[in-house]
Amino acid sequence: MLFTVFADLFPKSFQDHVSRLEADTQYRTDFQAEVANMPLDIWENTPKWKLTAKFRKLTHPACERCGRTQALEVHHKHYRHKGIEVLHPEDLEVVCDVCHRGIHQLELWPSPMRQRLAFPQ
Ligand SMILES: [Zn+2]
Ligand SMILES: [Zn+2]
Repeated sequence: MLFTVFADLFPKSFQDHVSRLEADTQYRTDFQAEVANMPLDIWENTPKWKLTAKFRKLTHPACERCGRTQALEVHHKHYRHKGIEVLHPEDLEVVCDVCHRGIHQLELWPSPMRQRLAFPQ
């Protein structure tokens, strides 16, 4: 699956976790439920999230907004698959720290203004 190309860069335990998420519905449901109760800052400090972000950056090693290749971070477009993002890489966007700050500043603004200024998709 995902890891055939990057197998050497991920621990076996994480590869096994992802394989089970893909193959075992009960395991996937249970894991999603466990992460659903975790505050975001906790989830985003777990090795599983960090490896997911690492994987996303490997498959897209530049900012998707400006093309910069330094200081890359991973932005959630939404949290509908919190915990199993690794199966939904389209939920995640690789952005540099500057663009990422811009995205979240925009979220603080009232929505009519945000709509006018929103980045084109
Ligand atoms: Zn950028
Ligand atoms: Zn973000």
